[in-house]
Amino acid sequence: MEEKVTGAFTAIILVVAIMISCLLIYVPNMHIIALKFEDSKLTGGRVSVMDMLTNSEDVLQEESRATRDSLLKGHQIRLSLPQNVTAASVSINNKFVDRDIQISIKGIGKDYFTNYPILGKSDNIEDVTYDSEDLVGVIDIMLDDVFEVSMSSEGGYIYLDFVDPHEIYDYIVVVDAGHGGNVPGATKMGVSEKDINLDIVLELKKLFDRCDKNIGVYYTRVDDSNPSFENRVGLANDTDADLFLSVHNNSTASGRMSSINGTEVMYEGGDSSGKSKEFASLCLNNLLAQLDCKSKGVIVGDEVYIIRESKSPVALVEVGFMTNVKELENLQDRNYQQKAAKAMYNAVLQYIGKI
Ligand SMILES: [Zn+2]
Repeated sequence: MEEKVTGAFTAIILVVAIMISCLLIYVPNMHIIALKFEDSKLTGGRVSVMDMLTNSEDVLQEESRATRDSLLKGHQIRLSLPQNVTAASVSINNKFVDRDIQISIKGIGKDYFTNYPILGKSDNIEDVTYDSEDLVGVIDIMLDDVFEVSMSSEGGYIYLDFVDPHEIYDYIVVVDAGHGGNVPGATKMGVSEKDINLDIVLELKKLFDRCDKNIGVYYTRVDDSNPSFENRVGLANDTDADLFLSVHNNSTASGRMSSINGTEVMYEGGDSSGKSKEFASLCLNNLLAQLDCKSKGVIVGDEVYIIRESKSPVALVEVGFMTNVKELENLQDRNYQQKAAKAMYNAVLQYIGKI
């Protein structure tokens, strides 16, 4: 009997010792994070928690495969939720064009990471920062590529996975509304090119949103922002897009109002496969059919950065001339914008139908 009790006692001691040593692995890491947050309370603002993720990866690497799998359950990132916070309090804003994923969690304060470690693999992650205001914590994950995020939750944990868009979609199209923000493009009679470009792209988005084909469409902007040229063409290159379509409107070289009018589409002359020209021609033919406008043809546009740098077949559409009174009037008309959108939508579907 006494031997059995001693045996059981030894077993308990052993289990406790193992648990303590497991905890100790996290302690130095937690301590550094705690110090960092103390510091951020003094200076205020966003703090990088990247160390925590990298360290947690080291910790994970030292663990057995089985422990790693049970902690991450095969996912890429695990976040712990405080008891009073549920998965419904978590929202994700994926800013594809910036390769930036913002995870907002309602009900977590500045000290969240001191109590709830983030675990994960840091492949593809360039930085993770954190800030909280009015008990809404925002975790910002900067990636080195474009990913979709899939989220699942289980037992007080949130699991995140970064998924290659090609795993989800049969085709990928990137649509770019030219200019934006404090770069309006041409402004004629109080109308800015950036607004017309966006209006047309938002009409195009309505068509793609209703499309029953499995096409992933990524937009460089759907508001009055102005992504860099690198990020615009980078969205097409990093998603390995099947097509890259940029929507603009034209004006005369002098910028003066004139009788010059018509639709023109630029393509990449350096694309020896001819796919860019083929897509540009489809865009032009559909626009001519829908808008009943004058053709200014397809032209080489390699002097334009986003055309030259595109690895995807690219077309830059100049729907009409803002320096022509009649065309400027048309371009502001919702029905005309819808027809232009329909034309480009048809061109994309026709191109994809041939792949
Ligand atoms: Zn433009």
